[in-house]
Amino acid sequence: MADDRVKQVKEANDIVDVVGQYLSLRPAGQTFKGLCPLHDDHTPSFDVDPRRQRYRCWSCQKYGDVISFVQEFEHVGFVEALELLARRAGITLEKTGASPNREGRARLLDVVRWAAQQFHACLLDDPQAEAARRYIGERGLTGETVRKYGLGYAPASGNWLVGKAQTAGVSEELLETVGLIAKREQGPGHYDRFRDRIQFPIRNVQGQPVGFGGRILPASPLAARAPKYYNSCETPLFSKSDSLYGIDTARNAAASAGFLAVVEGYTDVLMAHQMGVLPVTATMGTALNARHVRQLRRFVPRVVLVFDADEGGDAGVDRALALFVGCDVDLAVATLPGGLDPCDLLLAQGADAFRAVLDGAVDALEFKLNRVLAGDGSAGVEGRRRAVESVLGVIALAPTLPGQAGAVKMQLLVNRIAQRLALREENLWARLDELRRERGGGTDPRPGRAAEEDGAERRAKARPEERHLLEVLLAEPEFVPAAYAAVRPQEIEHPGLRALLEGLYALLAAGEPVSLDLLRERLDNVRLAEHALKLQDVGRRMTDRAGALRDLLRCFEERRTRPVKEELHSRLQAPGDHEAALELLRQLTQRTHGGGGLTPPL
Ligand SMILES: [Zn+2]
Repeated sequence: MADDRVKQVKEANDIVDVVGQYLSLRPAGQTFKGLCPLHDDHTPSFDVDPRRQRYRCWSCQKYGDVISFVQEFEHVGFVEALELLARRAGITLEKTGASPNREGRARLLDVVRWAAQQFHACLLDDPQAEAARRYIGERGLTGETVRKYGLGYAPASGNWLVGKAQTAGVSEELLETVGLIAKREQGPGHYDRFRDRIQFPIRNVQGQPVGFGGRILPASPLAARAPKYYNSCETPLFSKSDSLYGIDTARNAAASAGFLAVVEGYTDVLMAHQMGVLPVTATMGTALNARHVRQLRRFVPRVVLVFDADEGGDAGVDRALALFVGCDVDLAVATLPGGLDPCDLLLAQGADAFRAVLDGAVDALEFKLNRVLAGDGSAGVEGRRRAVESVLGVIALAPTLPGQAGAVKMQLLVNRIAQRLALREENLWARLDELRRERGGGTDPRPGRAAEEDGAERRAKARPEERHLLEVLLAEPEFVPAAYAAVRPQEIEHPGLRALLEGLYALLAAGEPVSLDLLRERLDNVRLAEHALKLQDVGRRMTDRAGALRDLLRCFEERRTRPVKEELHSRLQAPGDHEAALELLRQLTQRTHGGGGLTPPL
């Protein structure tokens, strides 16, 4: 990939815009601040600098430019990240036939988008989608909603999508990877996994379809033996346990609403949005978990979990309380009037009734306390004892927030329980400790610990001259030929710096332009690239790089000859070893004058 293409993609993707698609950023002086999406952040540690087009996390130390951000966040390589950014900016990158990432994320996204278009076109126009259109009309969803959310229909035949793919020349292998078709158990070929279903495209935070939820038509002959809802299986693009339906629309309304609400069904989300209640999203048929909460927390500090009155049983409440304790979020619980789901409520009583439900949400601890105290006999000593056991039992098992944030939150919780139940805090703390010991709960192996450790080797002390050499070369690639002639990679002791120098030399030897961007493509190691970007930035701040390079090359030469000089010196002092000393002198002269050095390829 040509160097100027990389530059073009970077110029077309402002780092604030791109990062802002993944999390809420607030202006803070000349930079923008947000919660770091690369670790479990509790204070906004993530800085984005628009002038230098860099991000930095003050907590997990991640650092880089727009391409490394996409690499980190999407867990993709350099080429894929570049491809994703190019698409975002409407730039077409020419394909190099040998690209190892042809099955990459961008291609998978293309395939899902293509399929979504097929299902959508079918729902809008195809005669076989008649029953589907009727069903959607009966649910009260408008044509505008159908278009805006790209709803579709997957016909019942079982080979409809396979046929479309063959006609359009779309890869069946990729369709299989994204979970839309599967190999037949008997005989050759594939079959459609979604049949006779309304297709709800599930979009990621940036609004790209990554999977589907399919709802079988009630009158379908398949309905008796197939599940009512069927989701895309786990694919490289889609994971059921952390996807949120409608998040791409809901997140934009989160800041002004001050919260994001979580409901259960696709139609609940669609109806809420259709009626103007926008900060509403849904899990994919799974209970709200810590991964969901971390995503939502990136946009807004308050999450409202909407329970159906009958269904939100004790287990659901306890799970919510555990999340409230273990996540840095204001998790509130709202209950719907008996027997209604949000969609029913919205249709029967309108948007204001639903808004009132959301407004009536109370935080998860309050909700749990209300519930246990509403139980019979709660006024007496025994009732209060049972309430304490029930609440502390959940808290004792929940993972706790790390550090000060966790200690403060726990203090507040215990304080509130004490007040509410008219008990002394010391007694609650003692009981909590007891429960934790009994159950072995209360700690959480924090995710990302391993990732922090893998940086240790990279940060191993490098000799200053090795670090400075890379700082200069990365900031001033025209100097690479001079270094190539004078310093061998084997002379660099630090493994990371050595890899960078080898990469630069390899580009030079291959006759490619020597630049950090091309080096990153070659190395495809985000940790190393991060290191290189830091070095480059230091190098760019140097005033006299040419002078620095001269000094450095002299320093390396000094390093190379020092051991020989020292030995020569000692041998010359030893009597009767002149023969050997003269040989050393010869070697030293050769080295100093570049004999045996590398010949630059230019
Ligand atoms: Zn971080």
